[in-house]
Amino acid sequence: MASHPGSDVLIAGGGVAALEGLLALRAQAGQAAVITLLAAESDFVLRASAVVEPFSRGHARRVPLREIVEDHGAHLEVGVLAAVEPERHLAMTADGRELHYDRLLVALGALQADPFPGATVFRASDGDPAFLEVLAQAVAGEHGALAFVVPPGASWALPLYELALLTSMHLAEHGAPPVELSVVTPEKHPLEIFGRRAADEVERLLEQAQISLRTLSRARALEGGRLSLEGGGAVHADRAVSLPTLVGPKLPGLPADGLGFIPVDEHGRVAGLADVFAAGDCTSFPVKQGGIAAQQADAAAAAIAASLGLLTDPPPFRPVLRGLLLTGSSPRYFRAEPGAGREPASVAIDAPAPDARFSGEGISTRSALWWPPSKVAGSHLGFWLGRPRGTGDGELEDRFVRGDDAAADAEWQAALELALLMAENEARFGDWTAALRALDSAQALTGALPAEWAQRRDLWEAELAGTPRSDLAG
Ligand SMILES: Cc1cc2nc3c(=O)[nH]c(=O)nc-3n(C[C@H](O)[C@H](O)[C@H](O)COP(=O)(O)OP(=O)(O)OC[C@H]3O[C@@H](n4cnc5c(N)ncnc54)[C@H](O)[C@@H]3O)c2cc1C
Repeated sequence: MASHPGSDVLIAGGGVAALEGLLALRAQAGQAAVITLLAAESDFVLRASAVVEPFSRGHARRVPLREIVEDHGAHLEVGVLAAVEPERHLAMTADGRELHYDRLLVALGALQADPFPGATVFRASDGDPAFLEVLAQAVAGEHGALAFVVPPGASWALPLYELALLTSMHLAEHGAPPVELSVVTPEKHPLEIFGRRAADEVERLLEQAQISLRTLSRARALEGGRLSLEGGGAVHADRAVSLPTLVGPKLPGLPADGLGFIPVDEHGRVAGLADVFAAGDCTSFPVKQGGIAAQQADAAAAAIAASLGLLTDPPPFRPVLRGLLLTGSSPRYFRAEPGAGREPASVAIDAPAPDARFSGEGISTRSALWWPPSKVAGSHLGFWLGRPRGTGDGELEDRFVRGDDAAADAEWQAALELALLMAENEARFGDWTAALRALDSAQALTGALPAEWAQRRDLWEAELAGTPRSDLAG
C-alpha cells in the first residue's frame, strides 16, 4: 500500500466534528497529513454546556482554537468557507482566498431557524438574553405559565429538558411565586431516542419537579397566553421557550438534500464527490448531537487516512448515542444503540433514516457511563475536554457501572464533597493549579459546578493568570 506523505487535508469548521476529525486524523495519520483547519471563529465553544449559564452555574466551555490546533501540529486559518470547487480541489473563502486540498472534511454544523412564531429561542450563544429575561420575569412573578417546547423538525431535544428542570430548581431557590411549568414535545415519550429506561427516568424527574408533560404535540404558535398545537388544541403559556430548528448549510459546490444537509455514506464520503468528506450537524444524518457528530468525524478521519494509504479497512460510522442530562443535582447518563432493543424508538425528527433508530430499552443510570464524563462524548475530543489539566491525549472509555441508584447517589455525593474539599484546601495555600484540577474532577462528577463553586473557579483562574483581585470586582 503506497502512502502519500505530506497530503494536504483541509478541515472546514471549528466545532465538535471538526476538532474530533483533527484529533482522530492526527492519531491515525501521524505526521503524514498536513492539516489545516478553516474556521469562522477563533474559539471553540462547547455549546452543550451553555445551558448552565442563565442559572449562574458556570460558563459554556471556551477554548482558543489556536491552542488545540497547534497542540496537534496543524495550522489554523480563520475564515468562512463560501464554496467548493471539487474538480479543482479548491475551497474558496468569503474573503476571496483559494485553499488547495487533497482531502476535504466539511464540518460546518447547521444553521439555526426560528421554530415557530412567538418562541423564546435558546440559542446557546451570546448569553441568551431573551431566555435570561424570561427567567428574571418569572422570578419576579410576571409569568403564570411557561412552556418548554421541543421544536418540530431537526433539532436535539435534550437541552430543552435540562432548561425545564434547571428552571424549576432556579425558581424554587429564588423563592419565585408559583409558575406552571410544562414540556410540550412531538415525541411519544420524553427523550425516547435513548430508549424506554431513559424516558421513564425523565418522566420521573419532570414529575418530581412538578413540570407537566404533553407528548405527541407539535407547536404552531404562541399568541396571547396560548400555545396553539398542530391538529387543534392549545397549552396555557405566557412564554414558550424552545430551541432552534436546524437547517443545512447548502454550500455552492456541495450536494444538499431538501433541507440543505449534505448527503454522506457510512464513511463520511460526500455523495458523488471524490476526496470530499463531511461529518456532524451539516450532514443528512437525522440525529443532530455532538457525540454522533464526533463518531461521524472518527469514521471520516479513518476513511481519509485509508484513502491516503495509511490504514486498511477503515471502520464505518456505527452510531452509539451517549447523553448526559443535567438535572440540577446528580446528572443522569443515558446510552442507546441502534437495533439493540425489541421495539425501536422513533426519533424526534422528521424522516428518520434506518440508522437513526435507537434501542427500545437503552441504559439510564446515575453513574458515569464513559470516562472522563464529558458532556459531548466524542472519543478524542471528549477525552481532551474532560481530562485533568496538564495531561495529554487519550480516548474516552465506556464504563458499565450499574448499581442501585441510592448507592450511586451516596457514592457520588461523597466523591463530590471530597473533590470540593480538596479544591478548597489547595486554594487556601494558593496552589491554584491543584485547586482547579480538583474542581475539574468535581465538574466531571456533576456535569456543571454548583453556582458558588463556578464563581470560585473564575476567581482562581484569574489568580492563576495573575489578575489582581481588585480587577475582578463586577
Ligand atoms: C443548547 C445545546 C445543548 C446541547 N447539548 C448537547 C449534549 O449534551 N450532548 C451532545 O452530544 N450534543 C449536544 N448538543 C448538540 C451539539 O452541540 C451539536 O450536535 C454539535 O455541536 C454538532 O457539532 P458540529 O461540529 O457538527 O457543529 P458545530 O458544533 O455547530 O460547529 C460548527 C462549526 O463550524 C463553524 N462554521 C460554520 N460555518 C462555517 C463556514 N462557512 N466556514 C468556516 N467555519 C464555519 C462554526 O463557527 C462552528 O465552529 C447541544 C446543542 C445545543 C444547542
